[in-house]
Amino acid sequence: DPMTKAFFDHISTTPLDPRVFEAMRPYFLDRYGNPSSHIHDQGQAALRAVDQARAEVAALIGAKAGEIVFTSGATESNNLAVLGAAEGAGAGKRHVVVSEVEHFSVMNALIPLRNAGYEVTVLPVDRNGVVDPDAVRKALRADTALLSVMHANSEIGTIEPVGPIGRIAKEAGVTFHVDATASAGHIPVDVREIPADLVTLSAHNFYGPKGAGALYLREGTKVAPRTFGGFQEMGYRAGTENVPAVVGMGAAAILAGREMGAWAEHLSRLGKTLWDGLAAIPMLHYTGHPSERLPGHVSFWVEHVEGESLLLFLNMKGVMAASGSACSSNLRGHDEEDLVASPVLRAIGVPSDICTGSITFSLGKGNTADEVRLALDALPGIVERLRAMSPTYLDYQKRQVKGG
Ligand code: PMP
Repeated sequence: DPMTKAFFDHISTTPLDPRVFEAMRPYFLDRYGNPSSHIHDQGQAALRAVDQARAEVAALIGAKAGEIVFTSGATESNNLAVLGAAEGAGAGKRHVVVSEVEHFSVMNALIPLRNAGYEVTVLPVDRNGVVDPDAVRKALRADTALLSVMHANSEIGTIEPVGPIGRIAKEAGVTFHVDATASAGHIPVDVREIPADLVTLSAHNFYGPKGAGALYLREGTKVAPRTFGGFQEMGYRAGTENVPAVVGMGAAAILAGREMGAWAEHLSRLGKTLWDGLAAIPMLHYTGHPSERLPGHVSFWVEHVEGESLLLFLNMKGVMAASGSACSSNLRGHDEEDLVASPVLRAIGVPSDICTGSITFSLGKGNTADEVRLALDALPGIVERLRAMSPTYLDYQKRQVKGG
């Protein structure tokens, strides 16, 4: 039963808060109206619920309700932001700038842009995964339609300097998109402080339901729609809203706004126990920024240990964590046939000659100290066992012996 296990993969999704579920329940059953058909009471109730959720999500990030467009989730929001802003920028602006560590839902949205003749500049990151604001300054041009830099990286936890980067974009007059999927609801995201024009949010990453996301559009930002149909969501996103999920996103936003400080404290405390315990494992390398990182996000790789094997063994011990999709077969259209490290790991300089994987423990508000202890008790034995089976480790040992 997965419920008896210690879940440390909150970056992939979070459990629904039962209070959010209660807020959603009536919209599955009694209140089934369509917000666009509001001449009658059922439609009115749905419209009011969606409008209220819009105000609640806006409040989480210091925005106005009219600046929130509901979507199906982060992927759709990122697609709308990247493709919509590129098209919305108008003729003559056919250059887009992104960081090297963006999520696939930003990176792969660039494919149709490249095919349409847009030029893409990909900004490198340093060994902690941080984008250099000076590099942003140098990359922006008169014909740049869009800059997209994420707030926090889900794989390595690093928080990007989106404030300074946004001020540079603003000076240059370039539309700035921030993917805040991993950060919103966990650390403050405030559009009065971050000069972003577009911000991606996802409900299931902060204890809300799957199937609801939002794109914040600062007043005056030009974005062309990606879906065509009715006039829902101010014309940016046609189609009947997923009313229960939207209501859930609003409820989750209220809770996050109230409670994220307490959650972060709890996560940081548990995270520290985990960091401290990991120090006992030899040849373990932390990834991401040592301090500018998401609370309760612990990521690392271990020399001579294949990440996915480690995760399988952990799962057998009742501990669920994730890998940064290292050693995945090559999905990104490179020519090499061999296994490749994740793009993010490669970007921060993790050697890709040995098949490693970064392990990500992303803690949640429901995790306990006992669960962290379970992970720490299991890890050293698993690492030892996998290392003993690793051909690269045997080579390493032979070299050590020869070298005296
Ligand atoms: N952006 C980031 C930073 C993510 O980590 C993810 C995945 N959780 C996404 C976008 C896409 O989210 P989803 O699959 O929920 O659409």
